[in-house]
Amino acid sequence: MKIDVRATNWLRPFSGEAPQCPKCRSHDLQSFWHSAVVVGECAEPRNAIVMMADDPTTVPDENTEHLCRACMSCLYAWSEETADAA
Ligand SMILES: [Zn+2]
Ligand SMILES: [Zn+2]
Repeated sequence: MKIDVRATNWLRPFSGEAPQCPKCRSHDLQSFWHSAVVVGECAEPRNAIVMMADDPTTVPDENTEHLCRACMSCLYAWSEETADAA
């Protein structure tokens, strides 16, 4: 099943090898690989997306591996797809 990340954007598309903060365009980021959602970090944003989704079954589930990135400049944080499923 194709996942529409625009409609269910707790996972943005992988942003490449020189990721930029979508809010302030800083390159000063930290990245963390998560094998599943982490309570207190990315579980709550995902839950919010599920609540808002027209069709919650299209939202990647809690055991979807992903990268969580955090901007060291403005402190915005987000999750995105991994480059490859290892
Ligand atoms: Zn995460
Ligand atoms: Zn930023």
